[in-house]
Amino acid sequence: MSTKFVYRFGNGHAEGEGAMKNLLGGKGAGLAEMNRLGIPVPPGFTITTEVCTYYYEHGQSYPPELDAQLREAVAHVEKLVGSKFGDASDPLLVSVRSGARVSMPGMMDTVLNLGLNDTIVEGLAQKIKAASGSPRFAWDSYRRFVQMYGDVVLGLKPESKTEADPFEALLEKKKEARGVHLDTELDEKALRELVAEFKAEIKKRKGRDFPDDPWEQLRGAIGAVFGSWENHRAVTYRQMYNIPSSWGTAVSVQAMVFGNQGDDCATGVAFTRDPSTGERRFFGEYLVNAQGEDVVAGIRTPQPINNASKRQPDEKSLEELMPAAYADLVRTYERLEKHYRDMQDIEFTIAKGKLWMLQTRTGKRTAKAMVRIAVEMVKEGMIDADEAVLRADAGKLDELLHPMLDPSAPKKIIARGLPASPGAAVGKVVFHADEAVAEAQKGERVVLVRVETSPEDIHGMTAAQGILTARGGMTSHAAVVARGMGKCCVAGVSAINVDYGKAQMSVNVDGKVVVVKRGDVLSLDGGKGEVILGAVPMSAPALDEDYAQLMKWVDERRRLKVRTNADTPTDAQTARNYGAEGIGLCRTEHMFFAEDKILAVRQMILADSVGERRRALDKILPMQQKDFVGIFKAMDGLPVTIRLLDPPLHEFLPTEDAQIAVVAEELGVKPDVVRARVAALHESNPMLGHRGCRLAITNPEIYETQVRAIIQAAVEVKRAGVDVQPEIMIPIIGHERELAIMRALVIKAADAALADAREKIAYTVGTMIELPRACMVADKLAAEADFFSFGTNDLTQTTLGVSRDDAARFLGDYVKRGIYPVDPFVAIDQEGLGALMRIGVDKGRSAKPKLKIGICGEHGGEPSSVAFCHSLGFDYVSCSPFRVPIARLAAAQAALKDR
Ligand code: PEP
Ligand code: MG
Repeated sequence: MSTKFVYRFGNGHAEGEGAMKNLLGGKGAGLAEMNRLGIPVPPGFTITTEVCTYYYEHGQSYPPELDAQLREAVAHVEKLVGSKFGDASDPLLVSVRSGARVSMPGMMDTVLNLGLNDTIVEGLAQKIKAASGSPRFAWDSYRRFVQMYGDVVLGLKPESKTEADPFEALLEKKKEARGVHLDTELDEKALRELVAEFKAEIKKRKGRDFPDDPWEQLRGAIGAVFGSWENHRAVTYRQMYNIPSSWGTAVSVQAMVFGNQGDDCATGVAFTRDPSTGERRFFGEYLVNAQGEDVVAGIRTPQPINNASKRQPDEKSLEELMPAAYADLVRTYERLEKHYRDMQDIEFTIAKGKLWMLQTRTGKRTAKAMVRIAVEMVKEGMIDADEAVLRADAGKLDELLHPMLDPSAPKKIIARGLPASPGAAVGKVVFHADEAVAEAQKGERVVLVRVETSPEDIHGMTAAQGILTARGGMTSHAAVVARGMGKCCVAGVSAINVDYGKAQMSVNVDGKVVVVKRGDVLSLDGGKGEVILGAVPMSAPALDEDYAQLMKWVDERRRLKVRTNADTPTDAQTARNYGAEGIGLCRTEHMFFAEDKILAVRQMILADSVGERRRALDKILPMQQKDFVGIFKAMDGLPVTIRLLDPPLHEFLPTEDAQIAVVAEELGVKPDVVRARVAALHESNPMLGHRGCRLAITNPEIYETQVRAIIQAAVEVKRAGVDVQPEIMIPIIGHERELAIMRALVIKAADAALADAREKIAYTVGTMIELPRACMVADKLAAEADFFSFGTNDLTQTTLGVSRDDAARFLGDYVKRGIYPVDPFVAIDQEGLGALMRIGVDKGRSAKPKLKIGICGEHGGEPSSVAFCHSLGFDYVSCSPFRVPIARLAAAQAALKDR
């Protein structure tokens, strides 16, 4: 840590520069850089993020050197502006604003007009009068200052939105008493009264006087900005965007320039290109005679900045009203965009006709705008294609691929959960899968709400628009299946109470219980994890030429292949449309749940003898073959990895009495027989139980049948002219002997099927790597495998000893407390799991240098995990269909960073 804590700027000079975001925050770095460019910026200084870190590490105190540096910096501003901080006749007023490394819009606090007290305000009023201005302005500034200071520094702003801000309440009362609608209509006398009332309110609530000493005000405001780094909003925002709390915020202090001195003054915000569509048009809003917070506060309706963005003819644009200042603004934004080579989000104030820039930063944008801006900037020669690829936010592409809730529509959010599968859903609430199907058949759109889902709910999930669960994490059944379907899912919403008996759910919203009954409408935002009461309008995704262009650049740059996890021809086709280069995981168990198969599957499980089991399997075989035919056709010319049965058998059996009775009748046995079998199959730890290859060690006929179905399907499609490339994969392998037995079984069954058909089709046999032991003996496994596919869902579960289905209850707290930076079921835990994966890859390739290696766990579509797989030398990643473009982009970015 250095001992320079304050960086000054003003009049075209700056001690800092644009590249110093980590130290000066985005705002401080931008202000310094604008000074260096000669753009007019009110002079000031930035207190570094290191002071914030110090503040939290030293019991909320400051480094001893800070005070002297602050005094010098204030003197520097005084000299440049020509007025004095705390002076009663010609006072310098300042703004105090936060600014972290990355922008966190609206997350932290700001104080404007600092440096006023009862004496100084009179002095300021006199000075204005002498310059034939209106003294009202001095009182307007003072009123705003006391209010902001009271809210932000003295903590009067209520935490919850349902509680009224005490100052706003007094302000409203005053306007009512004066019979006016707008703050700007309050005269000097009313403003004087308000200041006194505000101060009395502070005294009443805090038992202390409003601080009169400008230096005390300044220190208080700086402390409040640092304090706001840990406020609830900021902490939540950081969690959402994985921003480490160790970064801290900087504080920028600047001489005030006033947009509220009359009708030749204004303040506004603008984007150099349209942040929602990406269109190249200068776009923004402003208010005449106003200060910064007015534009965002929504008290007055801001006006369009230029004629091109007028929506109504009676609107008055800045272009019309102040053409000279507008022309200045245009010149400035063009320079800034050219300089930063990216779309900028700018704030400005016009004081007595003169333009001042208060901020420039890279503008936040929708995914659509992100793509369009990048592609157009390449065409304009501003950036090259590598940079366009590197700049695109892989996580954000998601937005483009799913229908979404109209971002401009109002929303009543009643709960939040995990953003398990992006996209949006609007529909009537149902609590059972069968109901979902029944309603969907009637043409209703439904949202399926469950405590958690199981494979038995698949048909309901298919029928529903979206899925909401109270329990379960990012790799819970609901999440995995929904992502596979490209269906919106909000999972693990622990705040909701689902009562199947009453067919309702309830949730506490700001102290009030909201009950949602069957048939009530909910909207889900799967990208944000929001549960919204009522119907929010949707907007559909449209993949345009810009997207195609960006993805072309992406594909030219990546080394990793991208495959998909798909169990149906529809999913396979969707993934192919999104650029999938094969199937990395086809989970055959999902097919077993289909209505036409489940009875035979249950017969197979309940069979008393091998003969009976074979008879049941014989019924399953042609149906399974049909499933594979569809998938092979959809993936003509591309490899298809089919995984043999994985889950424990009891997952296929009914649990509720009514269903047990149905199954018993279908099977011609007494319900008790079924119940006894279900009880016999019960396991304490099914995820570590009789599943995966262990099923085939005890009952080889299941896998034999599946292999025959795969090969017969391959033969069938080959004869229809399809280029078929089957890869047969064995799950839950931990020992080379297991794999040797499985490999022999597969080859024997496959070759028998080929011989019966008198066909030759090349196929390969590989293993999933999803147990720590498999990594440790990967060299021995490689001898028995044509390929490895890392099943990082189970590998995370078994390595961390964290149940993937129960993790949602506590993993959130682990992330909140920084134990894991991100949910390890979302992004590969590179240090722990990653080390094991590296051993698996190294050992595997030591035995077989050309061993094909991929990943098919959910991590295969997560950008940081894709980059990690690239670094380990994987051949491919495989992910759910809707994440294929994200993985392609992440793979290209990893390759570019590798250069
Ligand atoms: C895995 O464990 O990572 C995997 C892909 O298999 P499943 O999720 O089906 O257990
Ligand atoms: Mg697995």
